[in-house]
Amino acid sequence: MIKVTVWNEYYHERESADVAKIYPDGIHGCIAAFLEKDEEFQIRTATFDMPEHGLTEEVLSDTDVLLIWSHLLQEEFSDEVAARVQKHVLMGMGLIALHSAHLSKILRRLLGTSMTLCWRHDDSERLFCTTPSHPIAKGIPQSFDIPKEEMYGEYFDIPKPDDIIFTGWFAGGAVFRSGCTFTRGYGRIFYFQPGHEEYPVYQMPEIQQIIRNAVRWCRNGERKQEELTCVQIV
Ligand code: ZN
Repeated sequence: MIKVTVWNEYYHERESADVAKIYPDGIHGCIAAFLEKDEEFQIRTATFDMPEHGLTEEVLSDTDVLLIWSHLLQEEFSDEVAARVQKHVLMGMGLIALHSAHLSKILRRLLGTSMTLCWRHDDSERLFCTTPSHPIAKGIPQSFDIPKEEMYGEYFDIPKPDDIIFTGWFAGGAVFRSGCTFTRGYGRIFYFQPGHEEYPVYQMPEIQQIIRNAVRWCRNGERKQEELTCVQIV
């Protein structure tokens, strides 16, 4: 059993009728619904408006893998909660950061760079699998098209990833390291670029398979429950 918490800012879906049409139950609702079909996963959801953004010590202690989608409220996100999530990732909780969560306080704290990139609305993407041997790429074709997607392009200011599993090519000419893994402390991190809120990207079977694979991979065996400290060897 893998305990998964799907966290979403849940702002666009309530502010925009067009986005609400695509994600009537929120992006978190869509992701939770397809993950729930997997009997190995136990899913809960949390959103920005909940006390402590729904990411209390109790919830994080009971989470093997946390998924986050955020955009407009990133600067309003609690520093205290971001620090708490960072602590749990260092202790072994897996983290999947989706699309515009590249600029979340959580990811910036964990990775330490500006996480800036280039972007443009209204493009289309061909996603290439550039590390086919990785467990996150299991069952994913060599490439597939996302008919409508926001362009994210290089330079993407991230630390050197452990693996670049997916590379995006956009019809407008840009390329992007779209699916990257990192390790921090005992924790495994996967950043995955597709998922702009105006397009039904999380309804695509290939995208759902990648996220399912990522949940399995980010759950790093037995969860360490203690913080990393210096150990004197005698
Ligand atoms: Zn976007």
